Amino acid sequence: MRTRAIALLLSLLLTACGPTMHGYALRQPRHDESRRVGEILDPLLMALELPSLRTIGASKGCKIGFAIVRTDRVNVWGSPATAAPCLYFTLLLTEGALKIPRDQLMATIAHELGHLVLRHTPQSDGPTLTVPAERWRAIQAQELEADRFAIALLKQTRIVYRVGSCEAMARFLRRSVPDWYGTTISARMDQAISQRAESADADCASPDVAPLRPTPAAAVP
Ligand SMILES: [Zn+2]
Repeated sequence: MRTRAIALLLSLLLTACGPTMHGYALRQPRHDESRRVGEILDPLLMALELPSLRTIGASKGCKIGFAIVRTDRVNVWGSPATAAPCLYFTLLLTEGALKIPRDQLMATIAHELGHLVLRHTPQSDGPTLTVPAERWRAIQAQELEADRFAIALLKQTRIVYRVGSCEAMARFLRRSVPDWYGTTISARMDQAISQRAESADADCASPDVAPLRPTPAAAVP
């Protein structure tokens, strides 16, 4: 029953985004893909005191958009709420992302939820590698903030639901970001990823990055 509710909820809502992402075509998720992502997403939503997938699925209100990006390269994106169709947010995952270890996929989805809850400025679909220095610093500050949010959230899911691992945040960064940029990764990006991974390790080990306090249900509109 639970599986069915998740599958029904995470149906394709492509109108929320364009027909491609970074030049790769989008497609509708298969049932097993919706189930896998739903099982990862649900404890994150509940740890944020947001409605569970079952609650959202049973209501006539907003849904969560979900689409698959056709590439074996690894990446995940979140896009903000939309009014028509009524979506809390939309998740886009590459086919490659669906093959990485579960805890790493959970870490990167937690990172995307961080961008949405913290109301970060959405990144354009353009080449972030060539942005001016000032804009670059602003982007990296948001990335660090979303990493930190994800680590606090993963600590919470570990304590409450016994799933997730904050160690997976740094593992995801070290493995998957170079996978996305490949040999075209710039020295600036390479350095930024190393710093983020080191910071994620430190935050994961630190008692100062405490599990999140209860968040108002309206945090994700
Ligand atoms: Zn990010």
